[in-house]
Amino acid sequence: MNYELYMRAALAESAAAAATGERADGAVAVLGEAMVAHGREQVVSAGDPTAHAVVVVLREAARRLGRASLSGVTVFCAVEPCAMCVGALLQSDADGVVYAAADPVEGAAGSCLQLADTDLLPRRLHVVSGILQADAADLRPDLRNGRAAMKRDFARLR
Ligand SMILES: [Zn+2]
Repeated sequence: MNYELYMRAALAESAAAAATGERADGAVAVLGEAMVAHGREQVVSAGDPTAHAVVVVLREAARRLGRASLSGVTVFCAVEPCAMCVGALLQSDADGVVYAAADPVEGAAGSCLQLADTDLLPRRLHVVSGILQADAADLRPDLRNGRAAMKRDFARLR
């Protein structure tokens, strides 16, 4: 599997999301060697707080494949998925997730929480991280500021 090829496609989706005023996050779903779905963050444009790139790409992949179980599918995303997105990946039966940049505040595939690979849940995801990490960091400078700065930003929103 050509990890960099698929991650470049996810990063292109991230850049497209940022260009429309969304948080820069994008994803592609891969089955075998084929990209079966593309998705990008749509929270602002759809007015939907659950429209993260991973959720969007899982919905599109299920629609295109005509099945709710996405076994055999690996999702590539720019940023480590949050708890909701890891939950959606587990519920979809996806095989795994590959991400570029870790998210120290909300990442649920090992950075902040570990939901992707735990004895506490019946399903597990194969996780690969750090593919094209520097390119993703350019798209999401907020991830570089570290946990303390991001928590400060969240506090200001409340
Ligand atoms: Zn998410």
